[in-house]
Amino acid sequence: MSETRHALIAGAGIGGLAAALTLARAGLRVTILEQAAELVETGAGLQLSPNASGLLDRLGILRRLDGLALYPERLRVRSGTTGSDLMSMPLGRAAQTRWGAPTLVAHRADLQSALLAAVSENMNITLRKGVQITGLAQDGPLVRVETLSDAGISAICGDLLVGADGLHSRVRAILYRKHTPVFSGRVAWRALIPAEQAPAFARQPETGLWLGPRAHLVHYPLRQASEVNIIAIVEDQWRDAKTHDFWSARGLSHEIGERFDDWHRDARRLIEGVSDWRRWPLFDCEPLPRWSCA
Ligand SMILES: Cc1cc2nc3c(=O)[nH]c(=O)nc-3n(C[C@H](O)[C@H](O)[C@H](O)COP(=O)(O)OP(=O)(O)OC[C@H]3O[C@@H](n4cnc5c(N)ncnc54)[C@H](O)[C@@H]3O)c2cc1C
Repeated sequence: MSETRHALIAGAGIGGLAAALTLARAGLRVTILEQAAELVETGAGLQLSPNASGLLDRLGILRRLDGLALYPERLRVRSGTTGSDLMSMPLGRAAQTRWGAPTLVAHRADLQSALLAAVSENMNITLRKGVQITGLAQDGPLVRVETLSDAGISAICGDLLVGADGLHSRVRAILYRKHTPVFSGRVAWRALIPAEQAPAFARQPETGLWLGPRAHLVHYPLRQASEVNIIAIVEDQWRDAKTHDFWSARGLSHEIGERFDDWHRDARRLIEGVSDWRRWPLFDCEPLPRWSCA
């Protein structure tokens, strides 16, 4: 009988947790190495299109999001300057019929919790927190991964390694030195507000997208429509280049307000209703020549 193959995964983000469940389902033993000592459930809304939701469904994750995820009935696109409707695309049941899986919106923390619960119930997956990957090398047929933790420097071998260690991936940096992420010139401002503070149009069970000069605005209800998630993407510089904790950099209301000064009043009302903004810089990375190497 052949021995069970052992997969190592760098990072316990959405990608790493989903990869672990997929590989365990295929019969592999999996070890996830995550640098954070604790996985803080953070972030805001995520949109999941049918290509992602279909896979999450197969992993049993969608049913864990029952009552937490929202299935928008349509995508409504409006002009940022005039407010006129540019386009409407049915989602909801129509997406299910067309693509065989739904479009949904969920809070990142809820999705991460659902994935974590499934991982912790799976006997074939071990999640090791507080373990940072520092290096890797081929060791005969195996991959040898060097790690750093409170216990010191160590190493672990596996049959394969999946680099799911995010934007500033150490795995990618080692394998593809030239592929460093570059600031895209766009900054995403995000906010979550209680639904009762949002204008009525933003409380509809739909995803709103506004297109305007050098910016766009997205909003949708979250968590049984008790909250509204808002994302404003603007062309801008990123001045806090040294800030590592991108997810919690605060934004000043008047700064983003000024960017939307000449937008339609509905869009402005939505922006003006937010007092607590967070910003994060968006990066681009050239596609890798290959996604695997032996
Ligand atoms: C805290 C946080 C909040 C976010 N909030 C939102 C949001 O509100 N809306 C949205 O659209 N997107 C958000 N994102 C982005 C979104 O989750 C990811 O871009 C997307 O899901 C891709 O996920 P990923 O698993 O590839 O990478 P990530 O989600 O970035 O996860 C990578 C993981 O790898 C770990 N890691 C990194 N380097 C190492 C190493 N050397 N060794 C071991 N572990 C390592 C990190 O600690 C992290 O847990 C957020 C990401 C993070 C990390």
